[in-house]
Amino acid sequence: MSLNEDYRSDHSHILGITPIEVVCPTTADEVKACLEKAKENRWDVVVRGAGTGMTGGAVPISKALVISMEKLNAILDIDIPNRVAVVQPGVITGYLQAEVEKQGLFYPPDPASLVICTLGGNVAENAGGPRALKYGVTRDYVLGLKGFWVDGTPFSLGGKQHKNVAGYDLISLLVGSEGTLGIITEITLKLIPLPLHSCDIQAVFKTMAEALHTLANLYTHGIFPSAAEFMDRSCLEAASLYLNKPLDTQDYRLLCQVDGFSEEDVHIQAERLLSYCKKNGALEVEIAKTPAEKSKLWEVRRCLSLALKANSLNKTSHDVVVPPASIGHFLSMLTSWSNESVQLLGYGHLGDGNIHVNILNVGLDKAEWEKIEPLLSQNVLELAVNMGGSITGEHGIGLTKKPYLHLMADSRVMELYRSIKAVFDPENRLNPGKIIN
Ligand SMILES: Cc1cc2nc3c(=O)[nH]c(=O)nc-3n(C[C@H](O)[C@H](O)[C@H](O)COP(=O)(O)OP(=O)(O)OC[C@H]3O[C@@H](n4cnc5c(N)ncnc54)[C@H](O)[C@@H]3O)c2cc1C
Repeated sequence: MSLNEDYRSDHSHILGITPIEVVCPTTADEVKACLEKAKENRWDVVVRGAGTGMTGGAVPISKALVISMEKLNAILDIDIPNRVAVVQPGVITGYLQAEVEKQGLFYPPDPASLVICTLGGNVAENAGGPRALKYGVTRDYVLGLKGFWVDGTPFSLGGKQHKNVAGYDLISLLVGSEGTLGIITEITLKLIPLPLHSCDIQAVFKTMAEALHTLANLYTHGIFPSAAEFMDRSCLEAASLYLNKPLDTQDYRLLCQVDGFSEEDVHIQAERLLSYCKKNGALEVEIAKTPAEKSKLWEVRRCLSLALKANSLNKTSHDVVVPPASIGHFLSMLTSWSNESVQLLGYGHLGDGNIHVNILNVGLDKAEWEKIEPLLSQNVLELAVNMGGSITGEHGIGLTKKPYLHLMADSRVMELYRSIKAVFDPENRLNPGKIIN
């Protein structure tokens, strides 16, 4: 297979069109030269990080030049007095995190893909992870961006300043723009003090209502977890089969993390959380302090995506968001739509209402599944929106969620989106067909 073939897809597994050319620039000047060549030839341009996107953002769907940022991967500066890191877009997220932690600093956004995805991709998708509950998402850390508009004109927005309200907030607009408005070649990220201690707590409840009530009321009990994840019985059954391990599958599990700057602070928070869980009916609570204990506690949560895939014929995933108080109702609606052939369930970052919904084919033939899956997807996404939520909390729109964007944006908003795209990219050559048509 030629190199170009490798750049046709991402983790959405949509197979796009073979690129005209794939380039891996090593300097910003080379990016500029690529854009000038594309302009001359009237080629479309698709920028790519590590291709871990789940919605097809980096998949070329027209004859395009693919600019892969994999070699533009240097940490340019970890500036301690200014509390920022300046990076090229191809830096792997987990690598930056490890480097800044050596200096006692912290870059919190933690997509589950952090050992493989790039910071450029994170900025373009506004990625987040479990720690978003306490620390926010990528957008909350981007202070500056440098790069090029599609015609090769350079831009420089923001920088090392931590406050900046001059003019329209183009940085926020570029963050999450999925490579459709500009090409990012340098990112300035805010760093915060590294919490030196943390511990993980798992509480097992007999009912979903008890688990969700506990989660919903933590904030009024002086507890600010850095992560709060939820797993129900169906998830535990799948994990038990996948891990080939007996698990009590009659339970509902809440998995929280608390962190802080001293052992004492973390201990106080953990004790509060434990006693609050017990007060709310927790049958069992487990605390993990060492890396090995923590890893054991997270094993079930971490395997869920693969476990559910392994135990079904087909799987469709959505990363919807609902207001936190609506989580229980949302999950019970998923259960009510399940039957012996199709199972719908939700798990994930329930602290902030970001639910990973899985629609599993456990008994339909291909034709039946292909008929019913889009209807169920539509129902799930509509339900989230009708509850005041969003069709995506992490993975973006790309190609796969494009048919549903109208659920969140009325015709005037869609028109504004198209107008914005036209201002940045009048010839519609930059990642065309993503987010909007
Ligand atoms: C196992 C797994 C777990 C995941 N878990 C999470 C999670 O917990 N949270 C989460 O948010 N996401 C998650 N994701 C999705 C994915 O990792 C993120 O969306 C990530 O930010 C994509 O980064 P990437 O480098 O792979 O970008 P790519 O997939 O290569 O590109 C994504 C988009 O960014 C654009 N882009 C990339 N680089 C640039 C640039 N320099 N300038 C302009 N545009 C650019 C592309 O055009 C494309 O539209 C997961 C994916 C996998 C496979």
